[in-house]
Amino acid sequence: MIMDNLTYRDGKLFCEDVPLEAIAKQVGTPFYLYSTTALKHNFQEFDSGFDGQDHLTCFAVKSCSNLAILQILGKMGSGADIVSGGELFRAMKAGIDPNKIIYSGVGKTKAELREALYGGILMFNIESPQELDRLQGVAEEIGATARVAFRINPDVDPKTHAYISTGLAKNKFGIPVDEALQEYLRARDMENIEIAGVSCHIGSQLTEISPFVEALQKLKEFITTLNDNGIGISYLDLGGGVGITYDDEKPPHPHDYAAAIRKELAGMDCTLILEPGRVITGNAGILVTRVQYTKVNSGGEKEKQFVVVDAAMNDLARPSLYGAYHKIVPVTEASEDQELVDIVGPICETGDFLAKDRMMPKVEQGDLLAVLSSGAYGFSMSSNYNSRPRVAEVLACNERFQVIRYREEYEDLLRGESLSVME
Ligand SMILES: *Cc1c(COP(=O)(O)O)cnc(C)c1O
Repeated sequence: MIMDNLTYRDGKLFCEDVPLEAIAKQVGTPFYLYSTTALKHNFQEFDSGFDGQDHLTCFAVKSCSNLAILQILGKMGSGADIVSGGELFRAMKAGIDPNKIIYSGVGKTKAELREALYGGILMFNIESPQELDRLQGVAEEIGATARVAFRINPDVDPKTHAYISTGLAKNKFGIPVDEALQEYLRARDMENIEIAGVSCHIGSQLTEISPFVEALQKLKEFITTLNDNGIGISYLDLGGGVGITYDDEKPPHPHDYAAAIRKELAGMDCTLILEPGRVITGNAGILVTRVQYTKVNSGGEKEKQFVVVDAAMNDLARPSLYGAYHKIVPVTEASEDQELVDIVGPICETGDFLAKDRMMPKVEQGDLLAVLSSGAYGFSMSSNYNSRPRVAEVLACNERFQVIRYREEYEDLLRGESLSVME
């Protein structure tokens, strides 16, 4: 995998052949920066592991939902795994073939189901008996047929962060294997429902292959049960979840992941669906931020050094939300002097940090820093908290770069609000 596609040239950090300083000068800071080469490489590397196997790779839109990114992946043949009406809207606008769109998520509203049916998506991953009933109702109303898979909760431990484990019995996702047959039998008798597949998604940032194989084995067993009951399956959706390197994690190479899956799948007659997110975009994007202040707070047990930057938890939530680690490097190669610092944002929360107790080359006011591996669940999780306009997104390609989402302005913050209030 390509790690962010960054190189130092004469002490200056480049993405592709673009110096980061030049982008900062033109676009301001903070900004997300994606490498076209890394993005394409990561998709190709993932997808090619399944060459010769009947499969469909549906990029998980929630990991990085910019239209330009979706368009690039769509042109490479990617479908989309969506989890909301908004993501459906984006995927369609980006030109992704509706017949390659899979709709997952536990809380689909009637309006969302209707939109997806009108859109002509490939398949709904149903997560509860009530959702099946609702979908039948909506499909009947508009005279459509809905292709469905049930998302099975295989009760497999993905050995990842608790907040991104989704395939354990105690998680809200999917339906338990031993209740699933009953739902398939119900679905079979529904007028506007067509059974298409079986699906699962056990979690995110998995660094081992065995939980995927274990989940696949459980799905296979279940498909046998379905067949015994006269129900055939066209699609087996294994979800996403392949991890990436943020620090020193050693996730499986996508080809090794693919090989293990294909081995387990041998002899099965169905189309494999994959829903990778992080493994495509995580190491294809960075967040660039500028140091505003450095300060020392003494008086406690020990002195504490802070580097205050212009990016915050609203721009990149992962450190605050999951205690996630992102490498942070200076954009201009710095002195040998190292110091132990907290890198924090301007937001009025103690949880607002990008790094804690981090050994960093000494940085000064005005320096640019790059927060690596921020392409997945970076911008897409950002918010306007503290009335901070969301940052720009930039795409680099060879020696050129292009803004693919303008930095929000103050007026954008007020959109939809009103001063004419009743009294
Ligand atoms: C989030 C999600 C994915 C993508 O997960 P990654 O870890 O980013 O690969 C795939 N499928 C579903 C249903 C998801 O919720």
